[in-house]
Formats: sequence, C-alpha cells, structure tokens
Amino acid sequence: MSTTTEFDTIAAVATPPGEGGISIIRVSGEDAISIVEKVYRGKDLAKVASHTINYGHIIEPKTKDEVDEVMVSVMRAPKTYTKEDVVEVNCHGGLVATNEILQLILSNGARMAEPGEFTKRAFLNGRLDLSQAEAVMDLIRAKTDKSMKVALNQLDGSLSRLIKNLRQDILEVLAQVEVNIDYPEYDDVETLTTKLLREKATEVRQSIERLLKTAKQGKVLRDGLATAIVGRPNVGKSSLLNHLLHEDKAIVTDVAGTTRDVIEEFVNVRGVPLKLVDTAGIRDTEDKVEKIGVERSRKAINTADLVLVVINASEPLTDEDRNLLDITDDDKRLIILNKTDLERKVSNEDLADWAKPEDIIGTSVLTNQGLDQLEERIASLFFDEGIESNQNSVMVTNARHIGLLNQANDALGDVLHGIAAGMPVDLVQIDMTRCWNLLGEITGDSYQDELLDQLFSQFCVGK
Ligand code: GDP
Ligand code: ZN
Repeated sequence: MSTTTEFDTIAAVATPPGEGGISIIRVSGEDAISIVEKVYRGKDLAKVASHTINYGHIIEPKTKDEVDEVMVSVMRAPKTYTKEDVVEVNCHGGLVATNEILQLILSNGARMAEPGEFTKRAFLNGRLDLSQAEAVMDLIRAKTDKSMKVALNQLDGSLSRLIKNLRQDILEVLAQVEVNIDYPEYDDVETLTTKLLREKATEVRQSIERLLKTAKQGKVLRDGLATAIVGRPNVGKSSLLNHLLHEDKAIVTDVAGTTRDVIEEFVNVRGVPLKLVDTAGIRDTEDKVEKIGVERSRKAINTADLVLVVINASEPLTDEDRNLLDITDDDKRLIILNKTDLERKVSNEDLADWAKPEDIIGTSVLTNQGLDQLEERIASLFFDEGIESNQNSVMVTNARHIGLLNQANDALGDVLHGIAAGMPVDLVQIDMTRCWNLLGEITGDSYQDELLDQLFSQFCVGK
C-alpha cells in the first residue's frame, strides 16, 4: 500500500462550526488545485510553489463577485495529510462566507467529504496505519493533557511499531515451522518445532499481557472516569461539584465536533478526566429534595467507576448515610467528610467499618480545606502505577485494540494448550496464524471494508 490510490476530489470545512476567527475549507484530490483555481483570484495556483500560502480572493466565477478575502495554502502530493494534492482555503470565519465558499468549490467539481474521509485517505494511501488514524480521533476528543500525550504517542506510531515487531517475530517462527515440516529428515524435528512454537508463543503472550495491563488506565484517559457524587440532601454535593467544575479545570481542547454538553460533563482532576454521572440530579436537589431518593443514587452508583459519598461531618451519621455506605461498599469509593469547619459530630473512626483511613477525606468546601488532598487521592487511585513514566511508553487506550489484543492472547493460549495436549504441529500453527492476523487488524495490515467504514464514520466531517 505504498502507492497513492486514485480518488475523486473531496472538500469540507475543517474547522469547528460557528463564529470563529478564521475557517478553513480543506480540499483533497487530483483536481484540488484546479478546482480552487476556478473560484480564486490571485496568483496562478497551478504555478505557485508547493507548501506556500497565497493571498487572494474567492470569487463567484460567472459574476466575478468577490465572496471573501482569503489565504490559500497549496500543498502538492505526496507530502500532505492525505498524500494527495491538498488545498486549504483560510477565510474570515462566519457561517455564511464559509458555506458559500464550500458550495462554490463543490459546484466546481469537488464532492462533499464524508466524516473522517481525509483521514481514511491518509490510511488508504499508506500515510497512517489504522492505529494512528484512530489516534487522530482520540486527539480530537482528548480531554486532558495526559490523554493528549497518549494519543500523540500513538499517532507517532509507537503502538504500531510494537505490534509490527510482534507480528514479525510470529512470522519468522511460522516460516521456521514451515521449513521444519517440509524437511522432516531429522528424527526430533517435531520436538524442535514444538519447542520453538512454545517459546515464541510464551514470549509474545508476555508482551501482549503487558500491554493489556495499561488498558485500564488507558481507558480512563480516553473515556473519562465515570464518577458519581452521592449523599443525602444538604451535605454539600452541589458545592463540591461546583468546586470541581470551576477550579483549575483547564480542559485542554475546545474540541471540534464536541458539543458543550459533553465538555461540561468532564472535569480534569490532576490529569484524570472525571466524567460526572447524573449532575442534573445534584443540581436539582434544592427544588426536588424528595425525588433524590436512594433509587436515583443507586442508578448513578451502578454506572460509576468511582463513587464519592459525601457525609456531613457536623451532624451525627443517619440511617440514610449508613445505607449509602452499605450499598457502595463494593465500589471503588472515597468517603468525603464535609463541613469540617463546623463542630465535628462524625469522626474518621465512625467510618472505619466502611473504608481505609486514606479513603476517608475530611473537607470543607466552604473554607477550601481538604480539597487538594481529595484531588490527589483521586489521581493516585488511578495512576499509582506511575502514569508519569507510563505516558511516554506504549499504552493501549482503544476498545477495539483491547478487544483484538484479548483475542490474540486467547489464540496464544490455544497454541500453548495445543502443544501441551500433544496436538499435531500443523493444527497448532493455525492458532499461531490466527494470532498474527488479529494483531494485524490493530495496525490495519489485515482489515475489512466494513471495519473501515465504521471506524472512519465516527470522525467529524473535515478530518
Ligand atoms: P447538597 O444538597 O448536598 O447538594 O448540598 P449543597 O452543596 O447544596 O450545600 C448545602 C448547604 O451547605 C449550603 O448552604 C452550602 O453553602 C453549605 N455547605 C456546603 N459545604 C459546606 C462546608 O464545607 N461547610 C459549611 N459550613 N457549609 C457548607
Ligand atoms: Zn445542592
């Protein structure tokens, strides 16, 4: 897949919709330059040097009316995002001008790009492998700087390199097995071959298991950590929520294609993207105290990866508090003993039945006490295996990759069981080949069209 495949010319707005400083309309394909040339007045784009930005105007070709003042980047194949000729028109933001320019480009020979089609071409033209294309999507959606680093790392190809090396190892062993089967002149060839297969399967398996261990943290970075804040009325849930939402919550990307709702659900706690569950329930508390019963809490608790149980330290424990503590006993949970600025009626010892000392955190949202410790504890719960060093090594974050790694691991399990059970080598070989194919699906070395369509359709248009 090293040569460029021939495609028609596509166009789309590459910047997020809405009023902005500038908008970019991206055009890619064989006719990209000549199509834009038809609606542009300025230097002859067919003659400008590659990778230059050119000042000019977009005009309606029949009436010669000026539509907008623009800067046009011309990038000739193959050193472009799609490996095709790419032209980007930078215009003055605003929905009307942007759409008008796009329409002109479309009516002069380009086709509207499908979601993710630019990245799909980058993949089909061999510029990105599949895991890198997926990293582009992760980057677009990255919620904290740590998520971004992991995605960047993957875009840089570190996961692909690792997978490719594993596949190469497997391929070599399969070739060796083939040779041994074809030339069975030695008596102990079966034993030798089996030994080789067993060693390689064990080795590859260790690598895969190491990767899978990173998946939990990876998933949190990618999808966020579903977090429920529960507690009886008036203990300080909304105050805590507001603190989490408004304090140093630098959500790095004002992400293209992400709705405000989605952004608002996430808060960045020391690099951990918390995805708050049922915040509506918390915000509604004031008006609808009676509705926020145990049932609603139970629902939020069920969908959460982390539960924050808030207790009012200035009132003795109630049955409702105890009940909440009981039903969250099996969850990953922190107990927040709030209102410690007031006279204490609940001590840490009173909660010792439910949690380890380090999981009980005294806070006062009013006077800002204990909140740093709370954030630190949340981060350490998930990153205590050293995310700082991990973010520079290979990490699996993507559900599709995790699924494939698990299947590949199972295939290796079958190899090892087969050998132990004394199965003939050519049967064992089948499982080893299956492992090789499954790993290939991660990088896209073996892929199916439906998979591609499904994957790239998750992108936004213009990427
Ligand atoms: P919720 O019903 O659990 O959401 O509780 P709220 O966050 O609405 O807080 C209920 C009341 O407790 C409000 O008047 C808050 O200002 C107050 N409150 C919240 N946290 C603290 C705290 O740490 N100390 C004190 N003294 N009051 C607090
Ligand atoms: Zn409230």
